Amino acid sequence: MNLYLGLDFGTSGARAIVIDADGNIHAEAQYLFEAAADLAASWEKALFSLISQISVQVRREIKAIALNGTSSTVILCDRAGNPVVEPILYNDARGVEMMEKLKKIAPPNHTVLSATSSLAKLLWYLKALPPDQRENRKTYFLHQADWLAFLLHGKLGISDYHNALKLGYDVGNLCYPEWLENLQLPVYLPKVLAPDTPVAEIKPEIATNFEFPKDCAVCAGTTDSIAAFLASGAKSPGEASTSLGSTLVLKLLSHTRVDDARYGIYSHRLGDLWLVGGASNTGGAVLRKFFTDAELESLSCQIDAEKESLLDYYPLLKEGDRFPINDPHLPPKLEPRPDNPVEFLHGLLESIARIEARGYQLLQQLGSTQLSGVYTAGGGAKNSVWTAIRARYLQVPIVTPIHSEAAYGSALLARGINMNRPGAEGAEE
Ligand code: ADP
Repeated sequence: MNLYLGLDFGTSGARAIVIDADGNIHAEAQYLFEAAADLAASWEKALFSLISQISVQVRREIKAIALNGTSSTVILCDRAGNPVVEPILYNDARGVEMMEKLKKIAPPNHTVLSATSSLAKLLWYLKALPPDQRENRKTYFLHQADWLAFLLHGKLGISDYHNALKLGYDVGNLCYPEWLENLQLPVYLPKVLAPDTPVAEIKPEIATNFEFPKDCAVCAGTTDSIAAFLASGAKSPGEASTSLGSTLVLKLLSHTRVDDARYGIYSHRLGDLWLVGGASNTGGAVLRKFFTDAELESLSCQIDAEKESLLDYYPLLKEGDRFPINDPHLPPKLEPRPDNPVEFLHGLLESIARIEARGYQLLQQLGSTQLSGVYTAGGGAKNSVWTAIRARYLQVPIVTPIHSEAAYGSALLARGINMNRPGAEGAEE
């Protein structure tokens, strides 16, 4: 049997899922990150721990592997692939120091113009490195997923166009833009491939040690949130995924690309389609401020989802939102607060549903394909009352995906998702 291994390096841990050609799961493994002085070494340990947890019988049938990491988690390595610096994590904003410089080199409103972008981190590294390391011993700049895949295939300097978006790679024209080339940065920028492209066979010593087939392919990977989108099963233009976690994140598969820095909206390429996304600061973190998860469950059961709550909130933990309302000073609106907690929760769920619907409207107003269905992920997805409320606003079917783990999405990539002909052989049915 042909099997496919997906590896997910997320924010708190790593996971592995092995699937067959029909998408059935044959093995799963998990690894929780601990605080580590040497981050890159801890990722390497996690990678080989996950592989070791998969039985030899399963490993012998793995034909391809793909891997996702957190977006904009980056590292510099020497020519042997050894890290020469500590990695900088996805949410590390030290790149804020480079914003003035970035504004002078990148076009206005470009995705790289953020303190956490890969390019901001690269410029920070170059400023912090001693001159001899900067000039004489040219280093490789890689994303987390690129470096971990390198450990498996041994080819240094390869990335994919999902990880490379926030480095400034032009995903429309599939090249580095002139303004970035002209900088002549003293590092090797990765060669960028389409996610799921086979890069090379797994290193012979790893194949021997773990009994992988010798011709097992290691493919170009993706980011954790795109892997989770792929796992959901959304694959046709108009299909979307809403993540109801601590925050509210929308992703809509579209024929057209939409980028609008005012609202923090940008598009990832998925073959000939575009994955248009926006993220609001509203979401489950505000619910958690007022209710425990058990209360959310028991109180939700007492809500009549067919009845509209007239409470009109904008639930935020602190002032400011970017999408769908771009106002850094937008105040949290949580008044009037009724004495009855069921009514209060109804108002909160209804208000977040309105913000979600407004978000999808905005993406469509800015030119995306019309919404036709929404897959839901995250802690709020299990709340059927909320789903019914959201359906009233969205007016499209809402589906709870069978699979939501990023590792499953990466396994689909390893299987070959054929993103140039979306729908022809897309994600899981
Ligand atoms: P993240 O990974 O973004 O922190 P999760 O996907 O784990 O978030 O979801 C956690 C969120 O889900 C919490 O903020 C919590 O308020 C929310 N949540 C948990 N249970 C429910 C429920 N029954 N109804 C609505 N929201 C819920």
